[in-house]
Amino acid sequence: MRTTHPFVVDSADSDKFHEECGIFGVYGHPDAAAHTALGLHALQHRGQEASGIVSYDGEHFHAHRALGQVGDNFSSESVIGSLRGHAAIGHNRYATTGGTLMRNVQPLFADFDFGGFAVCHNGNLTNAYQLRRQLVRRGSIFQSTTDTEVFVHLMAFSRGGDVLDRLVEALRQVEGAYTLVALAKECVIGVRDPLGVRPLVLGRIDAPGGKPGHVLTSETCALDIIGAEFVRDVEPGEMVVLTDEGVRSYHPFRKARSRFCVFEYIYFARPDSVLEGVSVYEARRQIGMELAREAPVEADVIIPVPDSGVPASIGYAAESGIPFELGIIRNHYVGRTFIEPTDRIRHLGVRLKHNANRSLIAGKRVVLVDDSIVRGTTSQKIVQMVRQAGASEVHLRISSPPTAHPCFYGIDTPEEGELLAHKHTVDGMAERIGVDSLAFITIDGLYRAMGKPGRNPLQPQFCDACFTGDYPTELPDRDEAVKQPELSFLAERTAFGRERRVRRG
Ligand code: AMP
Repeated sequence: MRTTHPFVVDSADSDKFHEECGIFGVYGHPDAAAHTALGLHALQHRGQEASGIVSYDGEHFHAHRALGQVGDNFSSESVIGSLRGHAAIGHNRYATTGGTLMRNVQPLFADFDFGGFAVCHNGNLTNAYQLRRQLVRRGSIFQSTTDTEVFVHLMAFSRGGDVLDRLVEALRQVEGAYTLVALAKECVIGVRDPLGVRPLVLGRIDAPGGKPGHVLTSETCALDIIGAEFVRDVEPGEMVVLTDEGVRSYHPFRKARSRFCVFEYIYFARPDSVLEGVSVYEARRQIGMELAREAPVEADVIIPVPDSGVPASIGYAAESGIPFELGIIRNHYVGRTFIEPTDRIRHLGVRLKHNANRSLIAGKRVVLVDDSIVRGTTSQKIVQMVRQAGASEVHLRISSPPTAHPCFYGIDTPEEGELLAHKHTVDGMAERIGVDSLAFITIDGLYRAMGKPGRNPLQPQFCDACFTGDYPTELPDRDEAVKQPELSFLAERTAFGRERRVRRG
């Protein structure tokens, strides 16, 4: 879910967008809200800024939304106790900077003539601004600045008879990446966009009375936490409906070739999750092995940049035969550095977060392995720290190709001009970061590590737009912003212009 700006924007009200999210839903269990809170806790890495749960008890909907982490907001008995019912959905929201508005915290809820409807979204729409503008002209009054609200207004204008017809009609009008979990009176609904950019899995959970309940979640790690059994991935373009009768499946969209986000494997998903039949940990380890074959270096020790560089480092060490050591220790009580709002704080954040294990580094030729370079701030600081700890050489190996393009599908990336790989060649990056050598896995190496023969340029098997610039959908909002840069409220909508100040339209 990413936020958009209302047609007329007040700068004081302007929210920052850029989110990844975690979504979860349960149908058919008396402790639906408690399970949802646990599921969201397991999905906390996908969003730390805010979370919310909406439940339904057969008569009333109940909601609780709050800024902050799941444990802070959903651990009290009184909160969980107030979220009564056999069905619930929940959402974790991730945003890079402050300015969060409570009214953007999901699940969103609306009253329709067919009854209440709550929805959570992971992904990002690429035509949300355009749809929003049309909807506002038709009379919609938006309550939030999130693109997710577009679904609700499109459903309100739909002539479809029931909730499913209306949702499908709305979804046929949107472009981009969306994985949804929604709650209506008789059901919990899960949908993946036709390209299946973001993950969604279906599970089953034992329930008192013998009839099992069903679960939808972004990642399998959230099934493990509640002891639910993995059933299958929801397919790209599939809508599943969980009811008292079990699970119904529909394919309401034109069939497309799947383009699952490869960055989920590289960085975003938890390594104990299995997505699309592939273990995230194993994918990272294979990428590390491939990286060692593509970019070997003579060295004494392989050191991961924790935590995200660990599985790839294990692979690199296994393939190269060079010992693996935890030469950098991470303080787990600090959030991800990337989410700090300004460069000054970001620098400080890295020092707060990592420390060198000197005895493992002094006098050694070190290979550092990390998953990605975005702005380069983390790498610069870590390299400096490793040199100060006495390394004789520092080589950096990255388990993704250079991140040279922004993501428009729900993973936070800074605008293009801030991406180190957009501004510099690999040699230029090495110089800025201060390493003796720098290498990234190649795009074909990445595909090989993922078990493919290489990247099929005509029909790429994944979405890899952040590395290749090959976006699998149209980008109407971005294109309009580029054509009309004077519309700063529009430019802010895209990763290209997001830092600009908002002017009144
Ligand atoms: P930077 O310091 O800007 O180069 O950030 C790079 C670090 O941020 C890498 O070590 C990644 O582990 C992490 N990272 C990469 N992409 C993201 C993202 N979308 N959100 C949060 N952290 C990220």
